[in-house]
Amino acid sequence: MSNNTIYLPKNLSEALKILNNSKEKVLPLAGGTTLLLNPTEKFSYIELDGLNLDYIKSDKNNLSIGAMTTIGQLAAWPQSARYWNGLIRECTLTIASTPNRNMITAGGNIVGLRPWSALAGVLLLLDGKIITARGKNYTAKEFFSKLPKTILGKNIVTKIRIPLNDKDLIGKWKKFSLTETDYPILSMGILYKLKNKNTIENIKIVATGLTILPQRFIKTERMLKNKQLTDNIIKLLTKSLQNEAVIGADIRVAAEYKREILGAIFKDILP
Ligand SMILES: Cc1cc2nc3c(=O)[nH]c(=O)nc-3n(C[C@H](O)[C@H](O)[C@H](O)COP(=O)(O)OP(=O)(O)OC[C@H]3O[C@@H](n4cnc5c(N)ncnc54)[C@H](O)[C@@H]3O)c2cc1C
Repeated sequence: MSNNTIYLPKNLSEALKILNNSKEKVLPLAGGTTLLLNPTEKFSYIELDGLNLDYIKSDKNNLSIGAMTTIGQLAAWPQSARYWNGLIRECTLTIASTPNRNMITAGGNIVGLRPWSALAGVLLLLDGKIITARGKNYTAKEFFSKLPKTILGKNIVTKIRIPLNDKDLIGKWKKFSLTETDYPILSMGILYKLKNKNTIENIKIVATGLTILPQRFIKTERMLKNKQLTDNIIKLLTKSLQNEAVIGADIRVAAEYKREILGAIFKDILP
């Protein structure tokens, strides 16, 4: 790290100027859990800490999460239970260990996308928007349609905004990993409304860890609409989900193993 410059801008417009005008390759520095663990001589960094980007706020329409809010802050957010049945807390508690969660930021988790990046999946479920310092506004569907860094270019994510119109829907998140704090092999989240005790009115399903990008399962979601969850239906829909999944290479496990796990988590996570 000794040859790398770390810039300390006073505000976002100064940060953008450095990002745009520097002759050297400069990257925004958030929690540093990827950048500082794998330092490279080639890069200098712009420290985003101190730019007032760590907050969780809500009004009657939206929940706003500053890009520098840590995963630890999200996991400890006292109002979590009021929104989507505590989905954000349930999901963020599956990320790494407590010391890591206190460093990893929301912005770093979604921009530095990895196959296991959990927030990307949650934002797809909740129709989140990603907002930048240059005033761009991406839907989660756009932002995670390819590597976010290529979409973002020389820009800084400042906040995540999640609409609260569906805040009473029930959310659930489950991860499968070899140990409690290991990188997940895969994770799955659902967001649903019940019509009666075991009939689904509507549902959204996402998985992370299958490829680098999080995946929605639109076809299976449609098949589940207004269905009573009998054993036969669950069996049929598990097959549909497994067929719909696009699974990339992972040196830890075979694709067919992942497909089996995906089916098992699906059965487990359904209401
Ligand atoms: C041991 C360990 C276990 C982990 N397990 C999990 C897990 O189970 N699930 C999970 O989801 N994550 C997990 N992570 C976290 C994940 O792998 C990344 O390390 C983390 O998401 C990066 O966040 P950061 O805030 O540290 O970003 P940094 O490392 O600071 O940055 C990452 C990238 O994003 C860019 N960037 C960051 N913030 C912004 C911004 N606001 N605007 C523009 N660009 C930005 C940086 O320039 C960089 O390219 C784990 C990490 C570790 C170290």
